[in-house]
Amino acid sequence: MDLRNYVRDIPDYPKPGILFRDITPLLADSKAFAASIEAMAEPFLNSGVDVIASAEARGFIFAGPLAVRLGAGFVPIRKPGKLPFDLHSFAYELEYGSDELQIHVDGIKPGQRVLLVDDLLATGGTMEACCRLLEQCDAAIVGCSFLIHLAPLGGEPRLNPYKVHSVLRYD
Ligand code: 5GP
Repeated sequence: MDLRNYVRDIPDYPKPGILFRDITPLLADSKAFAASIEAMAEPFLNSGVDVIASAEARGFIFAGPLAVRLGAGFVPIRKPGKLPFDLHSFAYELEYGSDELQIHVDGIKPGQRVLLVDDLLATGGTMEACCRLLEQCDAAIVGCSFLIHLAPLGGEPRLNPYKVHSVLRYD
């Protein structure tokens, strides 16, 4: 099954000049969704993953099934104002402006083995912020797993030294 056939290209979304990779057709197909979860999990099946951590919103769609597949828990990473307990925060720059992500201070115990998950790696800003948050938790980061990697946007080097796995690479 070629999962690429289930990713729809939307030109000029959300802004002129951007080619958006729309994963909603893939999510709507039971076999494609299941195959995506399996392929995102595959390199980490024997990695002793304790926890999947993921940033809202599209990352969550993959994080839940991956946690079940890998026998791991799930810890959310969220935008400010969404988590109720004590927090670690990391602010990061976007193309226009900045953003911030947060995690509960007790979400991950020091030394726990964590796999980070998102639907797509573009510039790497989102996942780099997630790595910084997990470092604040003293987590052992096992790697980062994505469905899609937009390679020309240069995100992968920003995730050094962590292992980066993606199912579909677009050059
Ligand atoms: P980055 O921080 O690596 O530049 O962007 C990745 C984040 O933006 C991911 O959380 C992803 O959900 C979202 N994103 C950016 N571009 C796209 C796209 O073309 N398709 C989808 N599905 N998500 C995107």
